[in-house]
Amino acid sequence: MGAPKLRVAVLGCSGSIGRQTLDVCRQHADKIDVVALSVNSSVSELVRDAVEFHASYVSVADESYKDAPELSDLPFGCHLSFGSDAVSDLARLDVVDCVCVSIVGAAGLSASHAALEAEKRLALSNKESLVVAGDLLIPLARKMSEKAGEQLLLPVDSEHSAIFQCYQGEDPKQAHCIWLTCSGGPFFGMTREQLKSVKPSDALAHPTWSMGAKITIDSATLMNKGLERIEAMHLFDCDLDDIRVLIQRQSKIHSMVEYDDGSVIAHLGASDMRIPIQYAFSYPDRWVTPAPRIDFTQLGSLEFSAPDPDAFRCLTLAEEAGRRGGSLPCVLNAANEVAVDAFLHNRCLFTDIDRVVETCMDKHDVQRVESYEQLSLIDSHTRSFAAELIESIDFC
Ligand code: MG
Repeated sequence: MGAPKLRVAVLGCSGSIGRQTLDVCRQHADKIDVVALSVNSSVSELVRDAVEFHASYVSVADESYKDAPELSDLPFGCHLSFGSDAVSDLARLDVVDCVCVSIVGAAGLSASHAALEAEKRLALSNKESLVVAGDLLIPLARKMSEKAGEQLLLPVDSEHSAIFQCYQGEDPKQAHCIWLTCSGGPFFGMTREQLKSVKPSDALAHPTWSMGAKITIDSATLMNKGLERIEAMHLFDCDLDDIRVLIQRQSKIHSMVEYDDGSVIAHLGASDMRIPIQYAFSYPDRWVTPAPRIDFTQLGSLEFSAPDPDAFRCLTLAEEAGRRGGSLPCVLNAANEVAVDAFLHNRCLFTDIDRVVETCMDKHDVQRVESYEQLSLIDSHTRSFAAELIESIDFC
């Protein structure tokens, strides 16, 4: 008899991270049982995955899909539910040990909370959860991890998984700083003027990592790195100033921790999200890689540079949000989600993204974070205001 299988719920299984998570599950079918799956609206994918993995529970967040004919092909006995509350309920199921939250944007928040509250391991790729509600989620993660006697919150974001690994066996108090690495994105080296004319297809063409559209644009504006800095601040309980962004064009160093004695521990490997996803499942063990191994002889050089804050202003805006804290990161994130969506649909320029975010931040009176309801209200107010800004012809 081997070790019992890890029973996982993959929430947001049709997205980029969800698909890669299921691939890890496929490659380690002897170690992982996929018991629950959710999608927002991709019901065909849900049915296909439920059949392949013999899932017992599935949820569709968008209730307008209740009568979708595809759902009649779900496996016999598979429990089906609808609505975003139903998705969070999957995170609480007794038959689930580990919840992978790969839902994009602020929508992943309640599922992350539900997983922690139910004392499940949370493999978190949804950085927005921590950016928006780190003040609520992190104390909960600490409390429940202590109760469970194990680390419940495992980062899936590649940089944060890397940092987490660089910390293993070390005293975090002896860390001097974190080097948060960044590919620089497809528009690395461009001026503000040049950035005005870039199109969504330019950003989506050649990402270094296999990612969804929203995060690909965030990587191009460097907002992704700004959000990740706030995420790291919460996850590793350190000052924003001690998290330094460093461009590493080849994306082969996934982040580093520099210690007081000058030693720098770096995490290197293939640029493949399946590796950090798998580590969140296998921790503290290491399983055979789900991805091709890195070939250092083919790597050539490793180049480093500093980001350009004048051209890529999202980095500075995220820094301000992280420094001032409270409800401001929620505003940063909501405004960004709306602006990125507008850019993807050719409703604003690339350089309007940071303008929308900045205006929303300027108009907001920062509050101390008290509840999810408060954050949800700020989130929706910001979204409406950002949408109005984009509509206004003068603005763009
Ligand atoms: Mg990342």
